[in-house]
Amino acid sequence: MEPVVLESTNEQSPPVGLREALLRGQAPDRGLYWPRRFPSLSSEEIAAFAGLPYWRIAWEVLRRYMSGVLDAEALEAVCRDAYDFAVPLEPIGDRIHVMRLDRGPSASFKDFAARWMARVIGRFVREEGGELTILTATSGDTGSAVASAFHDVPGIRVIVLFPVGEVSERQRRQMTILRGNIRAVAVGGKFDDCQAMVKRAFSDPALDAIPLTSANSINIGRLLPQSVYYFYAASRVAECGEPVVFAVPSGNFGDMMGAVVARKMGLALKRLVAPVNGNDAFPRFLASGTYGKIEPSRACLSNAMNVGHPSNLARLVAAYGGRMDEAGAIHRQPDLDRMRRDLYSTSVSDARTREAIRAAWERHRLLLEPHGAVGWRGLEDYLAVEPLGGSPAVVLETAHPAKFPDEIVALLGFAPDVPPALAALEQCPEDYDRLEVDYESFRNYLLERHSMGSAGRQSSTRS
Ligand SMILES: *Cc1c(COP(=O)(O)O)cnc(C)c1O
Repeated sequence: MEPVVLESTNEQSPPVGLREALLRGQAPDRGLYWPRRFPSLSSEEIAAFAGLPYWRIAWEVLRRYMSGVLDAEALEAVCRDAYDFAVPLEPIGDRIHVMRLDRGPSASFKDFAARWMARVIGRFVREEGGELTILTATSGDTGSAVASAFHDVPGIRVIVLFPVGEVSERQRRQMTILRGNIRAVAVGGKFDDCQAMVKRAFSDPALDAIPLTSANSINIGRLLPQSVYYFYAASRVAECGEPVVFAVPSGNFGDMMGAVVARKMGLALKRLVAPVNGNDAFPRFLASGTYGKIEPSRACLSNAMNVGHPSNLARLVAAYGGRMDEAGAIHRQPDLDRMRRDLYSTSVSDARTREAIRAAWERHRLLLEPHGAVGWRGLEDYLAVEPLGGSPAVVLETAHPAKFPDEIVALLGFAPDVPPALAALEQCPEDYDRLEVDYESFRNYLLERHSMGSAGRQSSTRS
């Protein structure tokens, strides 16, 4: 197997291997790493997934990227350990399934990538010694998944920025009750402000002394493991090689890029439906070819998707031959006709999201939370344009309904059952720092925490 080479979407940084891309997060030219060529799986190999458990499919898919990065046995241990929870596919009618990606410890799909990355990056740090800081902005669920996955991993420290008014109480508690190597910071702004501060820190020479990487979906390490559940779902719901429609509620477009990766590796997709909430920069771009970010981002019910300028669009545009920089300026148009054949997008308002939660329950006894409801409604919008015609379709439910109890009670009149991971949150005291949207104070905060960390270690080795 040849090592995979990754290039920056800004086309100004030298290509790197996967290990470096994982440890850097963002390329030095502020672009995002994207494989120059993808390893491919034959249709026989994909067909054989039908009989395999989830962790084994993960190993089969991801080992193609790991030459020179991690040996096959180590990767097997990572996958077995990371994917020890169920991935239910709930049938709705004849050919539609809802894939519940909410059974991990933080009850969102972000556990899939965070748990894999924590184990792989934890191994790198163990091999190389030293210390690594994972800097992450969260609109709700990345923070809790990353905090849970990296908690107590030696040599790693995690700093999570979250928008103070935009995460639910349960989401906040998931980040703020952990101690040790996890630090949560409430920012008096929006998710885009958090993301912009984090991105700026990665290219700030004043922070060169602090080894930093990202666990946001600017890191390619988020996207590769997120390709696995598309293979898994197809192996369970499609006849051999039959193309599948996937509907993926989208914010930063990391989840749907997992499907783009799977397609590049050989998975047959009929259409990739990527609905958004009121932050509709992408469906507008797909329709018009003109990109305009939403500033400030709109606060919608599906809070983990309140992204005014999705960073992964740079990768999507690159996958279709174009070039978009980190600010959203298009320097070379992608092949829009091909994009429109492969993708469908639509904006689902909060009113339609609520309607979808109600209708799904009344018609199908299907329990959705706001993110999955955007996915479900998005599939319905697509089917109004192009009927399934016998193809299988899979909607991704990206969070557990118990993360949004108030909304569910208001709409359906009952509270969803709380999984044990979330129930345990109520008793623990919270602890977090606060910052305003101001890059200088954020930089000082990072420098202070870094020197505190080093000083703390020195004194503990002396004592
Ligand atoms: C993060 C998140 C999304 C959006 O995923 P992207 O990769 O940012 O598009 C959707 N639903 C939930 C519950 C999330 O946490």
